[in-house]
Amino acid sequence: MRYLSTRGDPGRKRFCEILLEGLAPDGGLYLPEHYPRVDAATLARWRAVFNNGAPGGYAALAFEILSLYIDDIPAADLRALCEKTYTEAVYGTPQIVPLKRLDPGLCLEALSNGPTLAFKDMAMQLLGNLFEYELGRRGAELNILGATSGDTGSAAEYAMRGKKGVRVFMLSPHGRMSPFQQAQMFSLMDENIHNIAIAGVFDDCQDIVKNVSNDLAFKRDYRIGTVNSINWARLLAQVVYYFAGYFQATVKDTEPVSFTVPSGNFGNVCAGHVARQMGLPIDKLVVATNENDVLDEFFRTGTYRVRGAADTHETSSPSMDISKASNFERFVFDLLGRDGARTKALFGDTLARTGRFDLGADPVFADAARRYGFRSGKSTHADRLATIRSVFERHGVMIDTHTADGVKVAQEHRDAGVPMVVLETALPIKFADTIVEALGRPPERPARFEGIEDLPRRVHVMPADTAAVQAYIAAHCKPV
Ligand SMILES: *Cc1c(COP(=O)(O)O)cnc(C)c1O
Repeated sequence: MRYLSTRGDPGRKRFCEILLEGLAPDGGLYLPEHYPRVDAATLARWRAVFNNGAPGGYAALAFEILSLYIDDIPAADLRALCEKTYTEAVYGTPQIVPLKRLDPGLCLEALSNGPTLAFKDMAMQLLGNLFEYELGRRGAELNILGATSGDTGSAAEYAMRGKKGVRVFMLSPHGRMSPFQQAQMFSLMDENIHNIAIAGVFDDCQDIVKNVSNDLAFKRDYRIGTVNSINWARLLAQVVYYFAGYFQATVKDTEPVSFTVPSGNFGNVCAGHVARQMGLPIDKLVVATNENDVLDEFFRTGTYRVRGAADTHETSSPSMDISKASNFERFVFDLLGRDGARTKALFGDTLARTGRFDLGADPVFADAARRYGFRSGKSTHADRLATIRSVFERHGVMIDTHTADGVKVAQEHRDAGVPMVVLETALPIKFADTIVEALGRPPERPARFEGIEDLPRRVHVMPADTAAVQAYIAAHCKPV
């Protein structure tokens, strides 16, 4: 399998070459040259491999799917990496991603039983093991620099902690993450994990990361890398749980299933698109947004309009508070019949110049729904409260705010006879304030997180100053 850029660069790369990279050199995103089609016999075999979530089934399924896209890691090594990643010890259940039934025909797929209780663990845990493996093979080191307002940073730290060859420098806005998220990150004592609390807001953190990335000499000398959601390996890891969810929701390989996905940067639902292109019988892929409805607007009207800072709302489902959807270019590339020149014109030119593009009048726009199964909807703070309440009252299940956005929008897109699976993207304990607002009681806390707020902390508070951050990095790693 070779990988190409969405912006038409003629270069082709293999999996391990793009694993440690961010954007393609022409500014595009990497995608496989084609999506391998899974025939009926293969789907039946994979159902048997997954074995309804019996111990080891998920890891074995992950190996089958990853092997179609990764041909530069020996099969035995890739299998071992999958087996090391997807264990009952890490995810608390042998199925790894069990389904929880709500109404007949409506269920949640639990993707948040990993170390940080959000679905980002599903991909990040694999990425940690892939990074360690590939860096070991190359005899190289990598210093990951990131900015987080919560879920991404903690998932990255828990995935990279103790990994050989990797250090993490994670910037977060001082005092602005939820108390649980701060406790999760700052209680890590691993020597290769550096928490840097910046006196400022999330945008200040992101600006520093950008400034450092633009300092090419520093970036090279200190081997600076990232783990952001445009990484193809993260997306690929997420494809697996669409298959695992499908197998649990059906008995026959011909039954259609729809998925609703709480969306921000379009990474999670893009993995669903890949699974559907591979031939998994997905009927609809429903994109659920919060008040930051960039994606809902596109799927309703064909207009993709990036929001300015003033139009980006801080909501009670904060991991979906985006001004633009960084993985969306991947889907548009497919929608345009994989026309790299046109994708480049839209994203590299029109969008960069005007902050928007409009495909509403283009015949391809209808394909988003008709050919690719996309639907969308939006949910507000009031919807989240009402949904958390009704799911708790009717089913005794406590859901988090992001999952609530998904359940609310899923209800609007159900079809008789087609099971609807809503991806559960975080556990309620991460967003306790809103749960208290909705239910008048605090969320359940998994036993392993009892007393986490009282643990000793390892965090370095710094001003919002790029040079100071660079000096800190320089003092904590050796240049090449
Ligand atoms: C990151 C995140 C999302 C959004 O996922 P995307 O892949 O960016 O669309 C939704 N819910 C939670 C809890 C998240 O952490």
